[in-house]
Amino acid sequence: MKRKIITIDGWSSCGKSTLAKQMAKILGYVYIDSGAMYRAITLYFLRNSIDITNNEMVEHALQNISIEFKHNAKSNQSEILLNGENVEYLIRDMIIAEKVSDVAAIKEVREFAVAQQQQLGKKKGIVMDGRDIGTTVFPKAELKIFMTADITVRVERRFKEMFEKNPNVTIEEVKNNLELRDYIDSNREVSPLRKADDAVILDNTNLTMEEQLEFAMHLLDKK
Ligand code: C5P
Repeated sequence: MKRKIITIDGWSSCGKSTLAKQMAKILGYVYIDSGAMYRAITLYFLRNSIDITNNEMVEHALQNISIEFKHNAKSNQSEILLNGENVEYLIRDMIIAEKVSDVAAIKEVREFAVAQQQQLGKKKGIVMDGRDIGTTVFPKAELKIFMTADITVRVERRFKEMFEKNPNVTIEEVKNNLELRDYIDSNREVSPLRKADDAVILDNTNLTMEEQLEFAMHLLDKK
């Protein structure tokens, strides 16, 4: 079968990456977590005290950032490297979650990340999740999914995930962060989060992982 590009966009903590990974595994495609790129850039900015209101400083910083994805045979997952350092675990921290949407709203940051994302999709056979993949990164993708779920369900899912790593995290903190990120992501000037006209909505509030996978694979079959 001809290799395709599948884009999965949507609100924070809708289970986009879970679905994207499942699909990539079945199809033998590459899975790319575009959010991890913005998170890694945020980590670099925090570590190097980059003033995000200073364009020159931001542009200079971006020149010193190299991002790669590497397959970890042990976990059978793709992991992100920032200038050669595996930061897959570090970028999931709340400190990053609190700053990432402001960093991702910067035009130069988006240009930097989008160029790399488009390069990764050149050979097709890719599932990429994010916020603007179906609208900006791959507007001609063969299948576009836009995921959504009730905020309560999303908060619970993200809280469970974060609590495992950090038992000090509170539900309120997680809820505030999701709502704030969704607000900034959908109201920024450059490539705001929105459903592409030709994307199919997948609301997984009441779906199991198996059901949502079945729904998505069925959409692909019809393509
Ligand atoms: O997907 P994840 O929650 O890890 O993304 C973290 C943040 O990165 C999002 O809240 C958003 O600000 C930014 N992002 C983006 N465009 C993408 C993917 C992520 O702006 N394609």
